[in-house]
Amino acid sequence: MSTIEKILEKYNTSETGLEDREVEFRLNKYGENTLNEIKKDHPIKVFLMQFVDILIILLLIAAVAAYFIGDWIDSVVILIVVLINGIIGFIQEYRAEKAMEKLKSLISAEAVVKRNNKLIKIPAKELTIGDIVAIEEGDKIPADIILIESSDLKIDESSLTGESLPVHKNHEYKADFDLSKIESSHDDSVKSKIAYMDSSVVNGRGLGVVIAIGMNSSIGKIATMIQEADTETPLQKQIASLGKTLGLIAVVICVFVFILQMASKGFITNIDTITEPFMTAVSLAVAAVPEGLPAVLTLTLALGMQKMAKNNSIVRKLLAVETLGSCTVVCTDKTGTLTHNKMTVVDNRLNNKKKALEICTLCNNSSVKDGKEIGDPTDISVMNFAEDNNYVKDSLEKKLPRIKEIALDSSRKRMTTIHRNIEQNNEGKKHANIKVLSKGAPEIMLNLCSHIDNEGEIVELNEKLRKEVIENMHQMTNSALRVLGLAYKEINDDLEAEEEIHFTDEVEKDLIFAGLVGMMDPPRKEAQKAVAACNTAGIKVVMITGDHQETAAAIGREIGILKDGKILTGSDLDNLNDDEFNEIVEDVSVYARVFPEQKVRIVKALQGKDNIVSMTGDGVNDAPALKNASIGVAMGSGTDVAKEAADMIIQDDNFATIVKSVREGRKIYDNIKRFVKFQVSTNIGAILTIICASLMSLPIPFNPIQILWINIMMDGPPAQSLGVEGAEKNIMKRPPEKGSILNKYSLSHIVIAGVVMAIGTLGVYLYELSLGGSITNPTEDIKIKAMTIAFTLFVVYQIFNALNARAKSDEKNNFFWIAILASFVMQLLVVYLPWLQGIFRTTGLGIIDWVIIVIAGAVIFVSDKIMKKIILRG
Ligand code: ADP
Ligand code: MG
Repeated sequence: MSTIEKILEKYNTSETGLEDREVEFRLNKYGENTLNEIKKDHPIKVFLMQFVDILIILLLIAAVAAYFIGDWIDSVVILIVVLINGIIGFIQEYRAEKAMEKLKSLISAEAVVKRNNKLIKIPAKELTIGDIVAIEEGDKIPADIILIESSDLKIDESSLTGESLPVHKNHEYKADFDLSKIESSHDDSVKSKIAYMDSSVVNGRGLGVVIAIGMNSSIGKIATMIQEADTETPLQKQIASLGKTLGLIAVVICVFVFILQMASKGFITNIDTITEPFMTAVSLAVAAVPEGLPAVLTLTLALGMQKMAKNNSIVRKLLAVETLGSCTVVCTDKTGTLTHNKMTVVDNRLNNKKKALEICTLCNNSSVKDGKEIGDPTDISVMNFAEDNNYVKDSLEKKLPRIKEIALDSSRKRMTTIHRNIEQNNEGKKHANIKVLSKGAPEIMLNLCSHIDNEGEIVELNEKLRKEVIENMHQMTNSALRVLGLAYKEINDDLEAEEEIHFTDEVEKDLIFAGLVGMMDPPRKEAQKAVAACNTAGIKVVMITGDHQETAAAIGREIGILKDGKILTGSDLDNLNDDEFNEIVEDVSVYARVFPEQKVRIVKALQGKDNIVSMTGDGVNDAPALKNASIGVAMGSGTDVAKEAADMIIQDDNFATIVKSVREGRKIYDNIKRFVKFQVSTNIGAILTIICASLMSLPIPFNPIQILWINIMMDGPPAQSLGVEGAEKNIMKRPPEKGSILNKYSLSHIVIAGVVMAIGTLGVYLYELSLGGSITNPTEDIKIKAMTIAFTLFVVYQIFNALNARAKSDEKNNFFWIAILASFVMQLLVVYLPWLQGIFRTTGLGIIDWVIIVIAGAVIFVSDKIMKKIILRG
């Protein structure tokens, strides 16, 4: 029994994979293949946590105090307020969490597994012990796997070991291989046979048996290390720190207001004199701290991500939502992103038709299964071209079996296959004829060729003939065709057929040129529009491609990327030092014949010029560039490795989707600004109103219950409804915004809105008090009337303030109108319903009062318009 058979036996499986019944049994026995996630709080705990807050605790103390002075109504109302606050906070947090969870499930890993003798794709969490798993370049290893097949397999284990150099793995077992060591040994002889969960394949492919899953895998045993904490985004940090600053100011002011009020009572401290000032101070603190801000922010980001996911872009990091809006340069692949990646050979210049078609057929990794074409679109187009000329892969491959492939990669820009043609000569002696077939970038192929085959006549490839080929190539590349050069050579040797043949780099040298094929890959219709949208939005689009510069330029012109910009090739780039490159980097629109490694340099140079750069990629080699970019964008069809490195995944590979996401990012950013402005200006307005009243020795214009009511409005539905406003009409017609949301303009805007509210409220309040004679010591009736007007005016300010914060948009936001209307109706009830009048200490208002309120309220409308003018000029 071979070692591999023993391994299969040990895990009670076979090369055809597990049967369904067995899978079910094992899934029950071993559980899911997941690394335990950070423990989630139970909803009840999340709800209770809403009350563990210094402000809430102070409010509860105030409620108890109110009860003891016999003011049980106040005490009940405060409890209701606390409860409503808790419910709002809970709903926000819960919704945000649910939205995030949904997104996580969208980006969960998959695995290719053999079951019932069929290769299928399943979610990686459904893998179990004994499953046969296939892995290939770019895959993330879904469990610990011991190899039973491998070819050129190299694995990056840095997630496990921190070692960045890829490790070779193979399935060649020595006869004395000790099976008992598999799960425990740190022996190198074992390690080189196992592909570990969470590492990634950088080269080759393999097949293996799952030996450990989930928390039992090697990475699972050190899983605490990989639990990536959800780090806060800069915006979340900024807002948290703004909240802290305001909170601190508020506390100082509350203490101050409390002392002033106590002073007016001659500092007599008993429960009757202390309760009211205490309640005022506490409710002021509640109103002054934007405690709802972080929750609304998270919810807005999460809902934004959900919306984007529906649009085919999956955001992996919250940060990307913020950064997208300020993106200034979008670097994009050509093939598949700007074009359809559906190629058709439309032109050819074949020097030897027979040889050329043979290369097209055999040096090709595509195939047709059940009428479906599988494989690289370039290969598929070439195969179809050969088939149209009666060259069929299956039958030809029987005669010329492939013995080796030197794979295509975006750095080599060519692929080569080696075939053996076995013939028996008359004496029965075996005679091997080795064929080397190669196709790739024409200029590279030409460099590898020493001869050219003109319909069977093989002559040296001199300058004149070379020029002819290049001329042919230009004709095709200039009409936007992707061109491949075809070449071959034959090694005739009296080799024993069974003899192992070793190949070196030499096989790709001294080739014979056989022709050119040109294929069309039509640009995506939407791409042109999307590029135009970027242009008006002040976003530069840069195409980065491995393709030929003329093909790239032709497509670039067609789509509108290349106008007066420069084209740079990968080798041009190599010839520039950093200073020279920095000088021109912002003028380059197209990079052609680029190596993936060069993308990092491009990103860094652009970032050096203060750009926010988004970069697309799909291959293993693109990962560093994706990580370095401000927004790394992986293609949905790309490798796990690229997706893992990216901030965002574009599921339909479409450039237009990237632009849609930028638009969505801008919208979200705008909306965040809206509710920040709305909430914080109200905070400032409330603080200023109360502190000024205290300083002027006036009775405080709002009582605690009223302050709490204002607070619910601010943190609740109206603020949230601003988070889901539609996009501004000019959203893609203005340049990207740089810098923070809380820059000096927006801050002064916020502060001035707060000041206007405070002045207006106090002015009207003073006027109303003055009607009764003594401003500082009004009669109870006058005081209640004045307070009701001041309170209602402040609420009306919030409504106008919310209207000011709205978008100039064509999109409807019914939620906004419902929230505003509900707030207003509630305010009317509070003012006119007798039993609510009792609770809120309000009185019915007359027409004149409303005229005053609306006129005073409208002032904020005007002042805001003026502020916007000034900011636009600034
Ligand atoms: P891009 O995706 O930017 O178009 P690629 O890295 O896919 O660039 O391809 C770069 C170059 O590699 C192509 O211009 C072509 O010359 C060569 N190439 C691409 N696909 C194949 C293939 N299937 N066989 C041979 N050569 C290829
Ligand atoms: Mg490509």
